[in-house]
Amino acid sequence: MSNNQQSCPICSLDKQVVEEKDHRNAFSVICKCCGEFKITKLATKKAEKLKISYKLSAWIRKQTESAVVIPKITENSLEDIERSFPNYRVLEKQLLLMNVFESRTEYPGHRASINVEHDYPLVWATGLDELEYLLQSLLQRDLLKLSPEEGMNALRLTGGQIKGMITAKGWEYLEEHARASVISNQAFVAMSFSPKLKSAWEDGFYPAIKTAGFNPCRTDMEPHNERIDLKIMNEIKNSRFLVLM
Ligand SMILES: [Zn+2]
Repeated sequence: MSNNQQSCPICSLDKQVVEEKDHRNAFSVICKCCGEFKITKLATKKAEKLKISYKLSAWIRKQTESAVVIPKITENSLEDIERSFPNYRVLEKQLLLMNVFESRTEYPGHRASINVEHDYPLVWATGLDELEYLLQSLLQRDLLKLSPEEGMNALRLTGGQIKGMITAKGWEYLEEHARASVISNQAFVAMSFSPKLKSAWEDGFYPAIKTAGFNPCRTDMEPHNERIDLKIMNEIKNSRFLVLM
């Protein structure tokens, strides 16, 4: 087992805390971009092959931000995790970015910080180029002001740290989109996990919801160590609609 600073096996960010585990078949990672997780080497390779590493990074970061401890990610659990990935459109990512600034804003007029090198997974962006583009879009839409004014050009000099102030128009925009579920494409299904209903889920609800363009979610789908009632409440809040049976 070795404990050293090396690049993150998912997002490749340099100098993160990466510990090799299970006779070098797995990693235990604390990454500024992705958050805290354990993953097998095979799962990292699979994520890379499927080109979902950036989404995995965003998913792990989301769990870390909500203080959820994720069980070790394996090739098998990766499949379930992938099924729960949202497919955000550009405008939805811009709203997510506004939400990040809003959550870090202490009072109207406050300039909240983000780090483009570490924070792009918060908006499910592929990397800092996409995050910079999204930031630029918020500027063009007058929803955000950057500080210092030369903001985007100075980024490389400030180690990726940048401050943003939500404008009056920005607050109006946030007010209009106050309900998080507006942008979600998740559908929460509340049903028994009894084996008798397995086919109702696998051949009925799951494909039907998928075909309608939504991501079906049942609390047994994603591996989690959370209290189940909290998990359910969270998922319902994050869903566009509910299916009860
Ligand atoms: Zn990472």
